[in-house]
Amino acid sequence: MKNIIIQCLICGFLAIGLWMAMLLLFLHLEQEDMLDKETEKLLYNRSFGKNVYQQASHSKKILKGDIINDRAMFSDPELIQGLSRYGLNVITSRRLGIERQVPDSRNKICQQKHYPFNLPTASVIICFYNEEFNTLLRTVSSVMNLSPKHLLEEIILVDDMSEFDDLKAKLDYHLEIFRGKIKLVRNKKREGLIRSRMIGASRASGDILVFLDSHCEVNRVWLEPLLHAIAKDHKMVVCPVIDVIDELTLDYVGSPIVRGAFDWNLNFRWDDVFSYELDGPEGPSTPIRSPAMSGGIFAINRHYFNELGQYDKDMDLWGGENVELSLRIWMCGGQLFILPCSRVGHNNKALSKNRLVNQSALSKNLLRVVHVWLDEYKENFFLQRPSLTHVSCGNISDRVELRKRLGCKSFQWYLDNIFPELEPLNRGKGTKPFLLAKGKNVP
Ligand code: UDP
Ligand code: MN
Repeated sequence: MKNIIIQCLICGFLAIGLWMAMLLLFLHLEQEDMLDKETEKLLYNRSFGKNVYQQASHSKKILKGDIINDRAMFSDPELIQGLSRYGLNVITSRRLGIERQVPDSRNKICQQKHYPFNLPTASVIICFYNEEFNTLLRTVSSVMNLSPKHLLEEIILVDDMSEFDDLKAKLDYHLEIFRGKIKLVRNKKREGLIRSRMIGASRASGDILVFLDSHCEVNRVWLEPLLHAIAKDHKMVVCPVIDVIDELTLDYVGSPIVRGAFDWNLNFRWDDVFSYELDGPEGPSTPIRSPAMSGGIFAINRHYFNELGQYDKDMDLWGGENVELSLRIWMCGGQLFILPCSRVGHNNKALSKNRLVNQSALSKNLLRVVHVWLDEYKENFFLQRPSLTHVSCGNISDRVELRKRLGCKSFQWYLDNIFPELEPLNRGKGTKPFLLAKGKNVP
């Protein structure tokens, strides 16, 4: 009898053990799957297109390796909270602190280039809203460390009414070390990125305005190519190649050379560069003509920025302003180029609660672009976004007037000369024909 009881107990324990093992295995696979989906989502949420996405899948492997080897980290509530608060890995950011070196991602040809000592001076404008403290300080310290002193007039920080405590007195205190070069402007109400940049520009005294996001790290000799190109032609607007700072590992990864583009939704995307463009004598250091800019990082002559009408001050919060400025530059006599020898890393933040895109502001901004700049092609936008057809976007008469005053060319001219690749690849549900960039209608 005793033996039977012992045998039953052993069987019972074995069965429980087996169930436990199966449960653990199940949980493990679940977590693996969740991690895959999360990392996939994070990486896909990047504002960059497929070219950089493909490259980024390399860092995904590293990332998964790191996190799987360090489950404690992945299940760390601080990491998860940091991601939802700041859109990046706050633990790693705190560990890196307010200053670090990033790898030189420039091509060898660029590393051998020399620029004149005397160039126009730069005012670097950085707007921020609820940025992670160390990330913001790394942006500032990288600009201070990697810009020639005689060319850096000032850094203008515009606080767009951030709520986080460490961006108040603690930020003032830390900026003291850069005394003399920094102006900190605090908005009295939330203005959004577009008006904040205009506020920054109105305080600037350098020859060239250089706009950066508050989660960037500049690379070596990043400023000189930008200033040099504008010194040669004051209507030239230039962007660096935007390298990727991974939001989870904070690794700095060099990006391929791409051009800025958009679709008929006016969604920005990166397009491949034609190989012949890099075949010339300057090889991979050749400036790339770009139909559009991604928005956050570019340099423009200060007087030209004012002449050209700055930004549309009635655009709210975030989005659309990059396409608007790109069209205005090209259609009104300027040029827009990407300079492969200038590189700036940008953190492709995950969507966080402080960064949820405000759809109604974005729609209003896009509508303002459509009604001012797209001429007869606005139909193509509305075929993609029929729900916006009768939505009001406020008074645009000032911007229409500006377009006339500047003597800007038509959108047809822009399509024919600057962006002939913009073709209606995705047909809308409507039955109306698309207007093709080449002026032909598709039934
Ligand atoms: N920003 C701001 N006010 C806003 C929204 C954004 O000052 O209402 C700042 C933000 O902190 C960042 C820059 O504007 O430095 C660009 O925003 P974000 O990085 O979200 O844009 P993305 O990189 O996705 O284009
Ligand atoms: Mn950004």
